[in-house]
Amino acid sequence: MQLLRTAQDMAMACRGAARPMGLVPTMGALHEGHLSLVRQARQDNDSLAATIFVNPTQFGEGEDLTEYPRPLEDDLAALDREGVDLVYVPPVSEVYPPGFNTWVDVPGLGDLLEGAHRPGHFRGVATVVAKLFNLIRPDRAYFGQKDGQQTVVIRRLARDLDIGVDVVVLPTVREADGLALSSRNAYLNDEERRAAPVVYRALCKAQRLWETGVTDARMLREETRRVLEAEPLVERIDYVSVADTETLDELDHIDGAAMVSVAVQIGRPRLIDNVVLGQ
Ligand code: AMP
Repeated sequence: MQLLRTAQDMAMACRGAARPMGLVPTMGALHEGHLSLVRQARQDNDSLAATIFVNPTQFGEGEDLTEYPRPLEDDLAALDREGVDLVYVPPVSEVYPPGFNTWVDVPGLGDLLEGAHRPGHFRGVATVVAKLFNLIRPDRAYFGQKDGQQTVVIRRLARDLDIGVDVVVLPTVREADGLALSSRNAYLNDEERRAAPVVYRALCKAQRLWETGVTDARMLREETRRVLEAEPLVERIDYVSVADTETLDELDHIDGAAMVSVAVQIGRPRLIDNVVLGQ
């Protein structure tokens, strides 16, 4: 595995890489969720690049940018074991050099749900992902359904900017009790960790109701919220959404696919999760 630290070196390494080439962008602190993307990408492609970059522009004020875990040695060892060919780990100054002033914004999609609670978050995500796509020029890029809105925003930007990358979305990897794997789960104390599976339980409630024929989206939101509210350690519910999978518009009635998504505060971390119905 080759480790690249500058855009120039990475571009050069990518130019010589076998095609098709896969890309797995990450912020590091890798877990089985990330590694499921790496494994699929390894199978699908003749060469594989991964990136580790804790992107400052997608963190809001008061968020955990400085404390975000950065176990670089372990991450590199894991990527090497999984057969990654190129890993790009740039310093912030390489991605945002002095004078940097061009942004990729996906207004609408990027302002809803997570965007409404984390202003500027998706501008940061879209900008860094567009930069990585331009630099690396992968044939396929792999993202987790765990960050459902992020996949919608990235699909949109890839289409709108004619980037010519196939965006592949893979299922959320969960703990045995349903909690979606996330680097931020480490912020939960024992009691909060025991309460956290309520997030997936609430989503499963919506899924079960839908499977038994309930298509009234308002009822699904209410029932999902009811499960979350029954858990005393849920300090705040930021949203419970039943939305169109492409526009993210809230639905009245489900007749095709829908994404049920939630964001809640349990202790220090804000936990997000979703399930897709009808896909
Ligand atoms: P992050 O390092 O949090 O930016 O995540 C990098 C990629 O891994 C994103 O595409 C995430 O959606 C994906 N990912 C994170 N957690 C999971 C999970 N539990 N299951 C599947 N994919 C995940």
